[in-house]
Amino acid sequence: MNGLAFQQCISHSCARRYGCDDVLFACRACGSLLDINYDWSRCEVPKSLSFFEKRWSTPGRDLVARADFSGVWRFRELLPFAALEDIVTLAEGRTQLQQADDLATKVGIKPGNLFLQYEGFNPSGSFKDNGMAAAFTIARKHGRRRVGCASTGNTSASMAMYASQTRTQRGEPMQPIVFVGGGKISLGKLAQALDFGALTLQIDGDFDACMSLVQQAANQLDLYLMNSVNPFRLEGQKTIMYRVLEGLGWHVPDWIIVPGGNLGNSSAFGKAYMELRTLGLVDRVPRLAIINASGADTLSRLVNCEQLKYEGGRIDSTRVHSFYGRMKAEGRAAKTIASAIEIGRPVNLPKALRALEYMNGVVRDVPDEAILDAKALVGRHGFGCEPASAASVAGLQLLREKGVISPSDTVVCILTGHALKDSDATVHYHQSIVNDQHQLKLKTFANTPIRCPATIDAISTCIRHSSVVS
Ligand SMILES: *Cc1c(COP(=O)(O)O)cnc(C)c1O
Ligand SMILES: [Zn+2]
Repeated sequence: MNGLAFQQCISHSCARRYGCDDVLFACRACGSLLDINYDWSRCEVPKSLSFFEKRWSTPGRDLVARADFSGVWRFRELLPFAALEDIVTLAEGRTQLQQADDLATKVGIKPGNLFLQYEGFNPSGSFKDNGMAAAFTIARKHGRRRVGCASTGNTSASMAMYASQTRTQRGEPMQPIVFVGGGKISLGKLAQALDFGALTLQIDGDFDACMSLVQQAANQLDLYLMNSVNPFRLEGQKTIMYRVLEGLGWHVPDWIIVPGGNLGNSSAFGKAYMELRTLGLVDRVPRLAIINASGADTLSRLVNCEQLKYEGGRIDSTRVHSFYGRMKAEGRAAKTIASAIEIGRPVNLPKALRALEYMNGVVRDVPDEAILDAKALVGRHGFGCEPASAASVAGLQLLREKGVISPSDTVVCILTGHALKDSDATVHYHQSIVNDQHQLKLKTFANTPIRCPATIDAISTCIRHSSVVS
């Protein structure tokens, strides 16, 4: 599978190509983001997507069985940049699409038409593992030892996990270095980075400051960058879409809804469909809805207020720069309970605009209150998720209310991370008293613990008076 893949500048007017062994995170000529592209005519791509189904059950412990067990490498013909023996895998991406009928009824979608893609089931508890499997494969191939990322939490947890279990081809351990902002990071996520042995630097500054520092460190301190500007990360994240299609019997849904932070996922999803269409493996493309938190709504503002568009790669970057300039001048920083999407300057902005154009997408933003209510609703119906993930369901509610999505549409919400990542937020939601129009009350879907004397009679009374209804 070598020599078929290359890195390519996404700018149409540049489109410069680089070999996959060239370590770079932006085009040397023009500074744009890079894609991993393939000479598909020389690749062996299956004629139909159903080819991939049988790999769920490959027996044995050899290289093929290990790759087939991974929800990323099971689809290796669609990300053909690595040889089988180079593959790094920790059984990531063994996630399945779940039909969510009760939740569908609650949000006004016809039962049978709403699905949740629960990426919290990944080994480190978030979708980031899909991307790390791909990026570590290439890091190991290049003999890179020191890996680094800026993180709101999940990237660091995933990177540290892969680093602690991967050795270089010379058998040396890897050294993970994590840059977290001095502000908010959920304890669950920080715990993972520490436990996996990452050198964890708490930087005085927010995520965007960490991001720019780690990019400098990559250039100056021989650090292999594991954020989603690394184009190999996005190759792994494409497979989330393949599994969604697989879960729908290879039928294309009407909508994919995803929370937007650094916009790696949105970008990867767009690329997945661009390629599937090119290869003739799907005959249509779903619409994409990217959901920002209202406190971190850069994409929403740029698209909905500034009318920023991809326009075949001719993005008006002066508009973006002046937007960031105003943000700085007004002292506006990203702030939301959904820490995983608390990002003011999304690094994959151009690729996300491309995905929006290709998938006829929309962008919306939802307030923290709506995110937390949606999170509780998702939990009530059987799937925990962390706040950022629930932005997808809160976004669905909004798009239903506004009539953008209709009850008969087939909708897939991506649940990006596990509920236990941020149990603080969950416990706080269920116990906090809010002041709503001079009335003290619980949150909409609160489920508070009940104090109960230690007698069977008291317990019986509590059960009978229980107000928790489904
Ligand atoms: C990273 C992350 C996001 C944001 O994804 P992007 O690809 O950066 O837009 C959303 N939710 C969770 C749980 C995450 O870990
Ligand atoms: Zn270029």
